[in-house]
Amino acid sequence: MLASLKGKSVIVTGGSQGIGLGISLAFARAGAFVTIAARGEEAGANAVEEIALAGGAGQFLQCDVTQWQAVKAIVDETANENGLDIICANAGIFPKQTIEEMEPEQWDHVLDTNLRSSFYCVKAALPHMKEAGQGRIILTSSITGPITGDAGWSHYAASKAGQLGFMRTAALELAPHKITVNSVLPGNIRTEALDDLGDAYLKKMGQTIPLGRLGAPQDVASAVLFLASEEAGYITGQQIVVDGGQVLPEGLEAPD
Ligand code: NAP
Repeated sequence: MLASLKGKSVIVTGGSQGIGLGISLAFARAGAFVTIAARGEEAGANAVEEIALAGGAGQFLQCDVTQWQAVKAIVDETANENGLDIICANAGIFPKQTIEEMEPEQWDHVLDTNLRSSFYCVKAALPHMKEAGQGRIILTSSITGPITGDAGWSHYAASKAGQLGFMRTAALELAPHKITVNSVLPGNIRTEALDDLGDAYLKKMGQTIPLGRLGAPQDVASAVLFLASEEAGYITGQQIVVDGGQVLPEGLEAPD
């Protein structure tokens, strides 16, 4: 049994749907106060309602994570009003585009949303966590990039591998302040964005997963909550793969 997260203040970027919503609900059920940061107000309001229905407490703050001033503003507001114990840099996008057809602006947009935003979250949280003498930072990376390649996602893979390079150095810089920086690497998790890739994709990927199913946001949330826990206080600069064994097979055939 892990120590309680009751009363902790957590920011989850991209917490309005998909994996981020799963993370937000898990923290809320554990008694934390959850600040959801994303662009869409309607989805954000719905997510806060879901948190309330689950018996938790939270708020939505509108934020585009590609904008430094916007990230700094919501982190400062949260920290000043509720304190800041944990930040989950989770917001991300994965539009499919081959290198041959990709425009430089499309590359930049994915790198800005997925990687630059991680730097912004850590930089904005640092002064508050440093002052508090503790903190937990968890990045949502992916198996794609750090472990695997996937045709059509070169920009995405680069951003997700980049998050891990950034994480290792951030972990070293922040360790003297008792702030840990870790990552989760999801495999294929059923979210709105994954559903957009179509039924054929979902079926094909599901067949390659040794544990026999696509992941659920809650699967990722469980690993995030562990990394945010008091018990994970001696773990930093590390990654947890949450993929049902997806990266284990040596061949292309679906496992028996
Ligand atoms: P999703 O269902 O599309 O949710 C993405 C969330 O990020 C939404 O809340 C979205 O809200 C927010 N977001 C996107 N761009 C943003 C921006 N510029 N500023 C602020 N918020 C923004 O995606 P998901 O599948 O849950 O993915 C979440 C994270 O998990 C991503 O980092 C993704 O790379 C990673 N991941 C997912 C999978 C998977 O299989 N699903 C696998 C590996 C890794 P708004 O659009 O309203 O801003």
